[in-house]
Amino acid sequence: MSDAAEKLFAGPCEFVAGAATLEAIPALKRPEVAFVGRSNVGKSSLVNALCRRRNLARVSQNPGATKQINFFELGGRLTLADLPGYGFARTSKALAREWQHLIFSYLRGRQNLRRVILLIDARRGPMDFDKQAMDILDEAAVSYLVTLTKADKLEAGEMHEVRAQTESALKGHTASYPDILTTSASTGAGLEALREHIAALTTG
Ligand code: GDP
Repeated sequence: MSDAAEKLFAGPCEFVAGAATLEAIPALKRPEVAFVGRSNVGKSSLVNALCRRRNLARVSQNPGATKQINFFELGGRLTLADLPGYGFARTSKALAREWQHLIFSYLRGRQNLRRVILLIDARRGPMDFDKQAMDILDEAAVSYLVTLTKADKLEAGEMHEVRAQTESALKGHTASYPDILTTSASTGAGLEALREHIAALTTG
């Protein structure tokens, strides 16, 4: 790993604020990277693994429980924003609308937002909700990187197939970043590449 990435992720990671409404979103100046994905995609596990913490972003027993954006300051250099998971079956239409409103307003208005990490469960590949998220990100014109989670669950051949499906789903999505990463919070696979990607956003 590069010195910059090593240093950044070895630094302290502290909870700054949680925002359930647009008004509660704190004005922060540091470069920001947001994590978004379907409930149960493994977002909390990935954020914890990236920061080498156990319980930073709580690994939820109740999918969809997190309905707020949580902000963490990493190494005094960067903010990580953990966005509430979408697409949970028990989410009512009203809640889904609320989610969309909060997320879209956040994405549109966040000047310091450098990248969104869009997590897709490798076992499932891109689903309708993920495609809707891509549309929202395109519309908000926020550059996003797709990361396939739970890579440990797939054989190499299956992973190849899911990557191809994901590439095809990303065609025509103007704001998507050309690479697709694969990660596993369980084995640590792919975490260094993601740390490098994020650390590169702290400069320039
Ligand atoms: P979130 O709802 O997106 O925050 O997802 P969680 O991090 O709470 O994880 C959802 C479930 O997937 C939990 O049972 C985790 O143990 C499991 N999980 C998360 N990451 C991985 C991974 O990399 N590999 C495997 N095999 N399971 C994972």
